[in-house]
Amino acid sequence: MIPYGKQNIAQQDIDAVVAVLQSDFLTQGPVVPQFEQAVARYCQAPHAVAVNSATSALHVACMALDVTQNSLVWTVPNSFVASANCALYCGASVDFVDIDETSGNLCVLALAEKLRHAQETGRLPDVVIPVHFAGQSCDMEAIAKLARQYGFKIIEDASHAIGGRYQSNPVGHCDYSDICVFSFHPVKIITSAEGGMAVTQNEALAQRMRSLRSHGITADPALLTEPSHGPWYYQQQALGFNYRMTDLHAALGLSQLAQLDQFVATRNKLAQHYDALFAQVEGVTPLAQSDNQYSAYHLYVVRIADSTRQLHEYLVTQLRAQGVFAHVHYIPIYLQPYYQQQGFKAGYCPASEAYYHSAITLPLFPSLTAPQQQQVVDTLSQLLSDWQHTQTALKE
Ligand SMILES: *Cc1c(COP(=O)(O)O)cnc(C)c1O
Repeated sequence: MIPYGKQNIAQQDIDAVVAVLQSDFLTQGPVVPQFEQAVARYCQAPHAVAVNSATSALHVACMALDVTQNSLVWTVPNSFVASANCALYCGASVDFVDIDETSGNLCVLALAEKLRHAQETGRLPDVVIPVHFAGQSCDMEAIAKLARQYGFKIIEDASHAIGGRYQSNPVGHCDYSDICVFSFHPVKIITSAEGGMAVTQNEALAQRMRSLRSHGITADPALLTEPSHGPWYYQQQALGFNYRMTDLHAALGLSQLAQLDQFVATRNKLAQHYDALFAQVEGVTPLAQSDNQYSAYHLYVVRIADSTRQLHEYLVTQLRAQGVFAHVHYIPIYLQPYYQQQGFKAGYCPASEAYYHSAITLPLFPSLTAPQQQQVVDTLSQLLSDWQHTQTALKE
């Protein structure tokens, strides 16, 4: 079976983790700040805060931006549930902006339209969370322009997009957002096993996130609100969590970061090869790429023309039966039973639903070979023509 994604672990990664195991600190040691500084440097942003997952990063990012039970957060349906759950953790309300079916990313026109309407009804969002789907940056300049006009904050969910670029700056530069979040889950571009990072240009936001990831506790003399009781003294100043990354995870992440550009270059090369092969296959269209960005290509997604639920299910099931572990990203978040219980109805974001029933994620990872890519393309095109023959036979 060809998996849809998998991590690349080299001897240098193993050595880095073993070195931490043999050191004095398994957690709260020197490697976490080293990893943070390396990611900040990579993104050309001043601050990075490491946590134990992107989900935690999204949560502390929302809290740092004052998302509370009175707040409203908007994101897109075409994402992992964590992009919306972070708002609910804060007791806030969540709502969804439809996507552009051709790219899978937030549709800026739909956002502008929804904002106009929200202004009329008096319920503008406090925070919008665009998701850089499959590794392709959203149109952040346009979203930031709307943020200034309507007064909302922006968290980029860049779980798919570390190593990508937007307008020639690294994703995570945060020129058009308040905070940008990365995931280091093994299926993502680089991994720390579990792990996440929140990057920002704003020092106060970084400080709040740093406090929240560790119980809201500080021992920094500069931050104490009353005189120290002695060398053991610390203060809990907010209600935080234990969202800390360990030094073992940070060592793996730091070692992987050194290979990031190579991984992304390989992913781009493999994606271009798929694009060339699919150009010969009628009815299969890769995701549209805009030219003001360089995708990190976390996922390689194709859309099936004139797709139906039956055809979509047939293709993904048969691909798996024939050794190609295809996947589907994503079930629109609001179609999940939990979100249906919150009152969302099927049909709410038509482009997201049409996209969902036509999109197939195909295997993409740095060690994927050209013969494997050929096998993926041949299997999918054979299945499509089998389906067409069956449909024609049924009509006759
Ligand atoms: C993977 C992912 C997350 C969650 O990442 P974790 O590190 O597993 O918590 C959030 N958003 C998106 C878009 C993701 O793909």
